[in-house]
Amino acid sequence: MKIDADIENTKQSGDLRDLLKELRAIMRADGGDMQQHLQAIVALISEHLRAEVCSLYQIDDSDGSFVLKATKGLRMEAVGRTRLRPGEGLVGTVAESRQPLALENAQADERFAFRPETGEEIYQSFLGVPLVRVQTLHGVLVLQHRQRRNYTEEEIEDCETIAQFLSEMLNRGPVEAIAQPDADLDGSHWISAVALSPGLAIGNVVLYLKDILIHRWQAADSGPELVRLEDALQNLQSKLELLLLLPDTVADPEKLEILQTDLMLVRDKGWRQKIVDAIGQGLTVEAAVQSVRENLKERMQAISNAYIRERLQDIDELSYRLLAELTNQNPSSLNDGLPPSSILVCRSLGLPELLHLDRENLAGLVVTDATSSSHLAIIARSLKIPALGQAPEALAKLQDGDRIVVDAINGQLIIRPSDSVVAEFETHIVARQKRDSQARSLSGMPCRSRDGIVMRLLANAGLLLDLDEIVPLETDGIGLYRTEMAFLIRDHFPSVKEQAQLYRRIYDRMGDKPVVFRTLDIGSDKELPYFDDHRNEANPALGWRAIRIALDQPDLLRDQLRALLTAAEGRALQVMFPMITEVEEFEAARALLFDLLKDHQDQGGLAPTRLEAGVMIEVPALLWDLDRLLGRVDFASVGTNDLFQFLTAADRNNARTNDRFDVLKPGNLRMLSMIAETASRLDTPVSVCGEMCGSPLGLLALVGCGFRAFSMSAVHIAHIKAVIGSLDVGIVEERIQALSCLQVGSVRKEIEILAQDLGVEIL
Ligand code: PEP
Ligand code: MG
Repeated sequence: MKIDADIENTKQSGDLRDLLKELRAIMRADGGDMQQHLQAIVALISEHLRAEVCSLYQIDDSDGSFVLKATKGLRMEAVGRTRLRPGEGLVGTVAESRQPLALENAQADERFAFRPETGEEIYQSFLGVPLVRVQTLHGVLVLQHRQRRNYTEEEIEDCETIAQFLSEMLNRGPVEAIAQPDADLDGSHWISAVALSPGLAIGNVVLYLKDILIHRWQAADSGPELVRLEDALQNLQSKLELLLLLPDTVADPEKLEILQTDLMLVRDKGWRQKIVDAIGQGLTVEAAVQSVRENLKERMQAISNAYIRERLQDIDELSYRLLAELTNQNPSSLNDGLPPSSILVCRSLGLPELLHLDRENLAGLVVTDATSSSHLAIIARSLKIPALGQAPEALAKLQDGDRIVVDAINGQLIIRPSDSVVAEFETHIVARQKRDSQARSLSGMPCRSRDGIVMRLLANAGLLLDLDEIVPLETDGIGLYRTEMAFLIRDHFPSVKEQAQLYRRIYDRMGDKPVVFRTLDIGSDKELPYFDDHRNEANPALGWRAIRIALDQPDLLRDQLRALLTAAEGRALQVMFPMITEVEEFEAARALLFDLLKDHQDQGGLAPTRLEAGVMIEVPALLWDLDRLLGRVDFASVGTNDLFQFLTAADRNNARTNDRFDVLKPGNLRMLSMIAETASRLDTPVSVCGEMCGSPLGLLALVGCGFRAFSMSAVHIAHIKAVIGSLDVGIVEERIQALSCLQVGSVRKEIEILAQDLGVEIL
């Protein structure tokens, strides 16, 4: 091996294989306690890698710090004493980032935290890698050298393989580790999580972990392992191809699209190559698949781009199926149904699985890896399943059959709640059901405030599936159809014909209700896997996306507009352009639309009964050109999700920045009032289609700023309609306008008081 720069620099995977074999022998050796094993392990790694220091830091679950557990090279008196918190020193940095850290001159690094008891002052270079298993951080493995040296990519990768192997060995295999949760299993626990789909549920845990116990980690000869890999991939591919031919699949475009995406991933060369490389390092094919799977999961943690995370999650799902194939096990399946009142708890869930769950018995969902902007969350909302995400520690604290409360209103998970807590939540569930049925009984009735002001209540949609929910609500139509969703779940650009078919189906389902079709809003967190040109941008949210792509590559936009014109024959067509930054972009896009209308008619096509071009107001630059913009467009819709993302320079997909700044600030109210006032003065219809209008407090603020049309996820519509019904708009306007003049940071509290005064239920 070649961790020492003075040693020959060629990669010798045989050495790594030998090392793994010896490590395993140590772990299996009878006699000796764990401490002795750990000492033997670090000594062996240091010898094989010719590192003067090899140390193992392990997490102390009581306070989350990292304790020096074993070392070869540092002073033994530091063992058990030296401790670093996450983020503290270089070890803490590796722990916090969960990424390898290689430094030529460690002591010159400002993050270096000197611990005199270790005697490490004589070592200059540092390589630390995290020990992670099933997304839980167990420790950090560190190598140090006296001489300054650069660690090569290969060396870092080898160290990662060793760390992966150690994590598995120290945890005694995947299934056992999960079956031994680290929590006190009798007590009640509270875990903070992110609400993916709103609602409350009480039920019993059904763990769906999709782990396969791997018995053999090393292979003496990689040849047969490579053959097994090819066979397993081929089998998996054939199974997917068969599924694609089933009449059930053919009749269901969404199912078809999902399976096509799976098939594309099975053929993914990059993924396959990573497995082949891991086999080349001496692992069995199962161990290689698992190792690549764990590395991908680590990357998922670090990536904020929701779309890429989704794709990595799909690969995780496929890795599991490949492991099942390799070990001749049936992948765990949810096909057999669920016991009544089940709360399904898993790390990830494929969209086909979600779509085919036994919904009768499913009370709620906890998907620890999912984010609120994922497709999974969008579909859970469509299916009205209360769901929580981003609660990784839930897996360690839960057992099958545990009673839990999913509070996807406040973003919390309550494990083994006391009877009084259950009773409290039951009361809330009953109250919500009552409120929803009252609100539902308003379906079809006009949306009118108590003082008689009529508002437009529209739905946001992106999948045909959404229409099942929207149609019975009898909304005023669809205020935002996110056309990019259909592109995201395919593996190729849909043809003009395919698109026209889809848009026609949407029109048909909505009858005579208006539909606003937003043109492709791709880029940033919505990258198309088959469109390389917009990938790998350093700053994708501010990059080449949406209308910018459409104007630079007009063929894409042309195809979409042609399809819309074809589908709209004899009906009204409203086209909305996303991410407009300056009026000229809108004008160029509208010119293209009208040119295409002319072509369409020249070729004998029927014109829509009415053709309107509108904009999303979501880039702050437009706020200083509102008169010019709103004087030219046929309609506008305020995309508060992006507008606030850009106003606050805070990534909406990043859990650390997403809710960092309160939107209910006087300055924001003045800004929103300015948009509503300008639109009204110029007689331009304006609506709001961001998430803000789905929350009662956000809605109050918007009504008070002068808005009268709102488009939101179907799940919020019934409640918001009831909220509007309880409003006296005159009072709301007066109070919100007064709040917008206050010289304070946030007026959330004041808007809560206003809601209370009006008897508006906030939850
Ligand atoms: C918005 O930005 O507010 C919006 C509605 O569009 P999207 O969430 O699709 O970016
Ligand atoms: Mg947007």
